Amino acid sequence: MSRVAIVTGGTRGIGAAISVGLKEAGYNVAANYAGNDEKANAFKDETGIPVYKWDVSDYQSCVDGIAKVEADLGPVEVLVNNAGITRDTMFHKMTPENWTDVINTNLTGLFNMTHPVWPGMRDRGFGRVINISSINGQKGQMGQVNYSSAKAGDLGFTKSLAQEGAAKGITVNAICPGYIGTEMVRAVPEKVLNERILPLIPVGRLGEPEEIARCVVFLASDDAGFITGSTISANGGQYFI
Ligand code: NDP
Repeated sequence: MSRVAIVTGGTRGIGAAISVGLKEAGYNVAANYAGNDEKANAFKDETGIPVYKWDVSDYQSCVDGIAKVEADLGPVEVLVNNAGITRDTMFHKMTPENWTDVINTNLTGLFNMTHPVWPGMRDRGFGRVINISSINGQKGQMGQVNYSSAKAGDLGFTKSLAQEGAAKGITVNAICPGYIGTEMVRAVPEKVLNERILPLIPVGRLGEPEEIARCVVFLASDDAGFITGSTISANGGQYFI
């Protein structure tokens, strides 16, 4: 029987590649999204992966959304916390709303999604939680005090929860992508991309969403059972820790 996987923000960008990668690896995938029905329905039609709308920044919505997925597909054994937003601005211009929106989605979203599935994973003695953080949570980034704080928090969440899950057969890991060629990054003017971004990346190109998806598929697998509390830096050599 296929394992059930939820991918938050699983209908676009990196999350869409993760949903497809897990489906191709044999998982029964549910792709969550926030509100872009048009993209989500196009993704569902194209891939056959069911989509579920709820806001990961709201705890009760996560409880209800996960209950619906479990009623449709079965107990969640793999959770990929991928949903994320940016509200970039210099700190002196950052509003309290810019701060809380980003923290609530990118950091509190991990609590909201993981807490409801955790007891079931403990009871069954198996689970995989994979958190998509960011290179900017590792190194910091001007204009992203909110985002870098949330993404760094994701790494603390990962390392702490990994210690709690280890004896119960649950692994908790993080992936820190660098510049990935999603719509957002591809929309950057070519001159900026060629002169300011690519020179920062030793391999000389953007990453592909599928390269992050393959990391997720590995971490979700039985082969990765001895890896927990780890961070995979997938950034083309841009930053080492
Ligand atoms: P996109 O903006 O392309 O897609 C974001 C997805 O998350 C969408 O499906 C969106 O839903 C969903 N989402 C946003 N907010 C919520 C919410 N509150 N509740 C539920 N779903 C939500 O993102 P990317 O593919 O670029 O990024 C994916 C992850 O990777 C993020 O965590 C990001 O921080 C991280 N990352 C990305 C990098 C990059 O280069 N792109 C680099 C490093 C890290 P909807 O379509 O409905 O809006």
